[in-house]
Amino acid sequence: IEAPLVIETHGLTKRYGSRTAVDDVDLHVAQGDRYGFLGPNGSGKTTLVRMLLGLVYATRGEIRVLGREVPSQVHEVLPSIGAMVEGPAAYGHLSGRANLDLLDASGPGGRSGRKRRVEEALERVGLARIDRRPVRTYSLGMRQRLGLAGALLTTPDLLVLDEPTNGLDPHGIREIRELLIELNEEGTTVFLSSHLLAEIEALCTRVGVVDHGKLVLEEPMDSVRRTTGRIIVVTPDV
Ligand code: ATP
Repeated sequence: IEAPLVIETHGLTKRYGSRTAVDDVDLHVAQGDRYGFLGPNGSGKTTLVRMLLGLVYATRGEIRVLGREVPSQVHEVLPSIGAMVEGPAAYGHLSGRANLDLLDASGPGGRSGRKRRVEEALERVGLARIDRRPVRTYSLGMRQRLGLAGALLTTPDLLVLDEPTNGLDPHGIREIRELLIELNEEGTTVFLSSHLLAEIEALCTRVGVVDHGKLVLEEPMDSVRRTTGRIIVVTPDV
């Protein structure tokens, strides 16, 4: 890997009692990557994503994100990270726009700067037309998109997304994929987890495959395409 590393873990391990959710993982996400973290349900993806964000503490091992140690220095880089973890939380009785306003309440640029930022985020994820409706009337896909809009408010250098297309219909999936590629081409490094090989193939430039908490493969997508059999064995596409 030639570009600087944006996410790097060494010996990362998480145990819950006698169960090892994440097992000795060395992860390398370079600047500019669209990195797909692929594994079946229960393989430890969510636990790892949460550790990257400092939301879950490792049992053992080291994490660096954007050059800072996690969790001890994570607060220094959080403004540069857009994150979406497990079913984006939002206030159902408030509109999509009001939810973003709340998230952005302490953002820079004064009232007009905040308004513009929220509108741009809504526009980017295709929610501008329904931004005044209460979130409880949103489909799961719309909520996912709202979560992504929230992650975009800070114009992040790095997006960390746990199963970002879960629950979306094919049209919604295509839209999110296109958006992620666009953001990546504008310079944002994208790290996303998925249990779908097809998703990672359509989207990613590098793939890490996790199975029972262990990283069993980490390679550029191009070289994986030549040896796909190895992945299909590990992770049947469902
Ligand atoms: P999914 O796609 O279903 O979220 P995943 O790949 O994200 O799966 P994790 O949720 O990280 O997997 O779970 C990995 C393992 O760790 C599972 O066996 C799970 O039961 C266990 N685990 C996760 N969180 C906890 C917890 N808080 N307490 C105990 N065990 C946990």
